[in-house]
Amino acid sequence: MRRYNKQQQISASFGKDMRIIIKDLYLDNMMSSIEIVDYIKQNTQIDITARSIQRLLKGMGITRSVKNAFNNAIKRNRVHWQYKELKYKRIRLSSKLRYKILKRDNFKCVLCGNTAKTNILEVDHIIPISKGGSSDDDNLRTSCNACNKGKQYNEDCKK
Ligand SMILES: [Zn+2]
Repeated sequence: MRRYNKQQQISASFGKDMRIIIKDLYLDNMMSSIEIVDYIKQNTQIDITARSIQRLLKGMGITRSVKNAFNNAIKRNRVHWQYKELKYKRIRLSSKLRYKILKRDNFKCVLCGNTAKTNILEVDHIIPISKGGSSDDDNLRTSCNACNKGKQYNEDCKK
């Protein structure tokens, strides 16, 4: 019953129901329960646990949305938010589009003339998607796996 006495003492010190104070600090001031503990300690010299604050909030049915809790944590530097560099997803061309490009290029590598008899033909992006290239016909071409390897090698070297 000691906790209840503390609650009464704190309420008396603030001249306001402790639960209302906690609710305001938690929702309006976006304080964490640990910060509320400090706030109460500073203002009343009464020690309470963060756990008892959480219990009171829970008892009142008060929760912060995950989004708010997360934004709050970022704002208070408890979480360091870093944008993950998105890797460009390899865009799968439809087989219909692939066929269209292969046919347009006479089923030959436009770079070396290899055909499907000797090499694997691929439809690739002239300007890579990662560099803003589109999947429009004029940015697509037929190339063989050998040329593609060369192209990738050259592109890696340019970096
Ligand atoms: Zn080729």
